[in-house]
Amino acid sequence: MFLGGLAALPLVKTGPRPRVAVVGAGAFGGWTALHLLRAGADVELLDAWGPGHARASSGGETRVIRAIYGSDRIYVEMVLRSYDLWARIDPSLYVETGALWLHRGDDAYVRSSLPILAELGFPVDRWTADEAARRYPQIDFKGIKSVYFERRAGALSARDACGVVRDTFVREGGTYRTARISVRDVAALRADVCVFACGPWLGEIFPDVIGNAIQPTRQEVFYFGTPEGSDRYRPGRFPVWIDFGERIFYGIPDVHGRGFKIADDTRGQLFDPTTGDRTPGAEAIARARVLLAERFPELAGAPLLAAEVCQYENSPDGHLIIDRHPAMKNVWIAGGGSGHGFKLSPAVGEMVAAAVLGGKEIPPLFRLARLSDAKRATQFEATK
Ligand SMILES: Cc1cc2nc3c(=O)[nH]c(=O)nc-3n(C[C@H](O)[C@H](O)[C@H](O)COP(=O)(O)OP(=O)(O)OC[C@H]3O[C@@H](n4cnc5c(N)ncnc54)[C@H](O)[C@@H]3O)c2cc1C
Repeated sequence: MFLGGLAALPLVKTGPRPRVAVVGAGAFGGWTALHLLRAGADVELLDAWGPGHARASSGGETRVIRAIYGSDRIYVEMVLRSYDLWARIDPSLYVETGALWLHRGDDAYVRSSLPILAELGFPVDRWTADEAARRYPQIDFKGIKSVYFERRAGALSARDACGVVRDTFVREGGTYRTARISVRDVAALRADVCVFACGPWLGEIFPDVIGNAIQPTRQEVFYFGTPEGSDRYRPGRFPVWIDFGERIFYGIPDVHGRGFKIADDTRGQLFDPTTGDRTPGAEAIARARVLLAERFPELAGAPLLAAEVCQYENSPDGHLIIDRHPAMKNVWIAGGGSGHGFKLSPAVGEMVAAAVLGGKEIPPLFRLARLSDAKRATQFEATK
């Protein structure tokens, strides 16, 4: 969809094939490297630790994929394209569960998405709380004023997917190397272009151009034990869910036998992705337990099986950041997943590859120019 031909190549090439280095083998970098390779480039992918490692924003067990995106049509199109690419690389990475959107107040975000979803082929059902309770008796719908069920939605494997993308890239002829790369190393990479897809590290790598425009925040994810001898909380019998209360909690059914996943989408404290302490916090566990008891009564008192302390890499407006470095013309930046980027990564990689090799324009919504200096200097504040 996004790929331009190599005929429009805007690069000064050092060899018969353009040489591209991609720094960062998370979801964005891995897919970018794979698309660049498939478009004919000679690609080296580098990462300081490895694809989907425990400090990366793409680490951990699972991520939600959904197409409801308010009135931002571009993301719905990217989700549609990404579904296709996820299925083609490895269909087992996706488990369809549907997504239940629960509103205690305004549901304008979902409503504004409905015409776009209808047009692009994503069916959404509107249920009363009683109808929803008949389908999902495991859930207490107390206080819920509106319920939507997005049928084509579910869970993607996260760190496993990063490994699959890297392995596919290597199998198809790409080179992967473990190395930490700074801007000073770009010349030594001997590449025509270098793409930095370094997630929450982008601010420290580019203090002037990115700086505070990407703020990593501490996010905690918990896995609680489900009742023995029961598949009531597994895909097939239980959906992905999002509960819009004072805080937005969301969860994923027990996909890999790891437990019932629950997470708070509220932005946490600023967090250093390299040195931050990833011990789960007692307060966050307590908040998750309150929601669990209120919404999923059978799981009140369920044992905590596991936790992941991760970080969002937030842009000031929550939109992706994809652009050429304003001063270094052979350097590109891709990041700003802002707590929702994983699902989009196949389309992100395709977009970056088409821009780098084919000169295709990046949509203005994702470009650096939208981030005024004033915004860039603003400390991130929790928005939802
Ligand atoms: C808890 C949590 C829940 C989320 N839930 C969802 C969800 O449900 N749905 C969804 O779509 N998205 C979700 N997201 C967001 C999504 O996971 C991220 O936006 C996305 O994974 C970011 O990928 P990335 O490749 O940009 O960053 P990363 O995965 O962090 O990858 C960056 C890579 O760059 C490497 N790197 C950094 N600096 C250097 C250097 N100097 N040299 C070499 N390598 C370097 C790192 O080692 C790392 O591997 C969630 C994120 C978190 C943390």
